[in-house]
Amino acid sequence: MAGTLVRLAGIPVTELKGVGPRSAAALEQVEVRSLLDLLMYYPRRYLDRTKEVPLGQLRPGEEAMVLARVVSVGSRVARNRRRMVTAEVTDGQAGMRVTFFNQPWRERQLTPGTEVVLFGKLELFRGRRQMTNPVVDLVGDKTGRIIPVYPQSEKAGVQSSDVARWVAELLRRTRFDDPVPDHVRARWGLVDRRRAFHDIHAPESMRDLQEARRRLVFDELLRVQLELVQRKRELEATTVGIRHDVGGELVARFHQRLPFPLTGAQRRVITEIERDLTGPHPMHRLLQGDVGAGKTVVAVSALLVAVQGGHQGALMAPTAVLAEQHHLGIRRMLEGFTVPDTAEDGNLFASAGLDRELRVELLTNRTTAAERRRLLAELERGGIDILIGTHALIQEGVSFRALGVVVIDEQHRFGVEQRAALRAKSTAEAVPDVLVMTATPIPRTAAMTVYGDLDVSVLDELPPGRTPIVTRWARGPGAEEEVWDTVRAEVAAGRQAYVVCPLVEESDKLEVASAEETFERLAGGELRGLRLGLLHGRVGPSDKEAVMGRFRDGELDVLVATTVIEVGVDVPNATVMVILDADRFGIAQLHQLRGRVGRGEAASVCYLVGDATTAEGEQRLQAMVRTTDGFELAEVDLELRGEGTIMGERQKGRNDLRLASLRRDREWVGRAREVAFELVGDDPSLAGHPALAEELAVLLPDEDAAEFLLKS
Ligand code: ADP
Ligand code: MG
Repeated sequence: MAGTLVRLAGIPVTELKGVGPRSAAALEQVEVRSLLDLLMYYPRRYLDRTKEVPLGQLRPGEEAMVLARVVSVGSRVARNRRRMVTAEVTDGQAGMRVTFFNQPWRERQLTPGTEVVLFGKLELFRGRRQMTNPVVDLVGDKTGRIIPVYPQSEKAGVQSSDVARWVAELLRRTRFDDPVPDHVRARWGLVDRRRAFHDIHAPESMRDLQEARRRLVFDELLRVQLELVQRKRELEATTVGIRHDVGGELVARFHQRLPFPLTGAQRRVITEIERDLTGPHPMHRLLQGDVGAGKTVVAVSALLVAVQGGHQGALMAPTAVLAEQHHLGIRRMLEGFTVPDTAEDGNLFASAGLDRELRVELLTNRTTAAERRRLLAELERGGIDILIGTHALIQEGVSFRALGVVVIDEQHRFGVEQRAALRAKSTAEAVPDVLVMTATPIPRTAAMTVYGDLDVSVLDELPPGRTPIVTRWARGPGAEEEVWDTVRAEVAAGRQAYVVCPLVEESDKLEVASAEETFERLAGGELRGLRLGLLHGRVGPSDKEAVMGRFRDGELDVLVATTVIEVGVDVPNATVMVILDADRFGIAQLHQLRGRVGRGEAASVCYLVGDATTAEGEQRLQAMVRTTDGFELAEVDLELRGEGTIMGERQKGRNDLRLASLRRDREWVGRAREVAFELVGDDPSLAGHPALAEELAVLLPDEDAAEFLLKS
């Protein structure tokens, strides 16, 4: 039978001996249709019989997996009217009772004589040993030392032992070609593909299983990296970028005029960006930098490279408030800068080399229709140098005369399509350079997987002179007193504070109510006599601006708010951040919130208030107390929550990561990426590795990628 995975993908499971229409229908339920599906239907667990603990030696409270035979089964209606099925099982030496609630079908499933693997916690109930609602797998009779247990087989009505038999048949009849070159396998000591598939399904030892898993993990990660690296190379090969001139004086003047020297990291990253900008391919770079690392200066430097060469720059922010803030800040930074007037309006002086003010404008959904019309006309004739805005920048009707550099702030809220749409905004031939900035650090290996088609720069140094933020966890009775004492003391010393109200994810309305309640409680109690402001999602834009303005100007001492203050608020005089019910927030959010203080010279403190309600919450809050390093926190977050959350949108539909975990296998991500660069080389279509190329097409059918390429 077939030698490549691609061929196996084309053969239905019914071709296997023993798979009739009924089995096929059951397999269909677990999405196994082709031989390839079956091959990649990996066991979810293995029962290692060499390590098996006899039932009689298990202690109550222990979680265990046991192989047992059903002796008898029966059902009755329990007192709370729930249907209860009980079975007596034995391993030949000792027995126990297994109880199921609300699973009436168990009575039919667990007929006497059936061999089952039970996974659950042993309890002692009225002096009898039992498990309640354990996970059950039917394994049939099996003599091997390591028994594979297949996922969801019981629900679909496929016996785990049947799957094992079919897989064995498939493995026996298939000869596997290995598309990964020998030297690559040798370098990492990887077993060949045939061994890997055999041992993942029917290992002789746990060691063999580990080897098999490692090889298949490598294959999965390699496919993802090949696709990303290919995408990157193809983009480079098919698009013409602008060769920006970085020798102009605008950027230099900007740096000279800053009231501080650039940090080493800023200088390094700006150099990296300038190298991209002078190159023939459009830049496609991700800038990761923790809150307060100084990304804005880097962004403006990139925009000015475009402007000094006669192009335009665009900066896109996720919210109107942030766009407005950027607009104000950047306009101030660039006050008094001039550029040659070359706008296409028949201006007689244009060619006379006259200068005009460098123009920075704002376009959001709050821009009036008349203003918008005026801006768009100016944009098209080249009278605007830098346009700052929200999603409004990528709407119909917005077109630049010569868009050179695009900066996207807070990337996590923008998808691939939006990036592509923005790049398509220029009326000129060449594709603009794109810099994506994010303040949500993600671990390096995750970045390689999620943003593997981008180059990555990291701003890993905070500007000097910041006093580190001390984080305290105010837990237990009486702990809150210290918090409010500190707030009052800091206010008395002329400082300001934030109080973040409990997060209510389920309902906006409840969250607003809770914020109002907190405000009332504090105003009439612990913070009586201080000047308090309230900010939440239902406060209208102009009131919000007014409250923010008063806080910024020092007319308010304490800002009680929901997470609306999460991003972008910059008040250096605020030195206390109090987060109520901190346990409800995720690490990234806590980190963002904490970043609102520690922006000036004075020492700042962040209080996490409340007990942890889960073990995970406990670890989260402890990590926050331990470190302020965003990258370290990102690692913890990945550890606690798994990769799903990081992959988000981008990974949807990319279901090839069955065995690989970005946590457990992090060193393999880098290795796979290295190999991918080697194999793709200057050959983006992988013509030199046709088997791999073919495999990619079948295993990673990525519409997202196709769409992306079409648009850019
Ligand atoms: P973020 O990376 O969070 O966007 P910003 O660009 O808003 O950070 O910068 C945070 C603050 O640090 C701003 O007030 C900015 O003026 C200041 N800053 C930026 N770079 C430097 C530097 N090299 N030295 C001192 N302060 C700096
Ligand atoms: Mg910023």
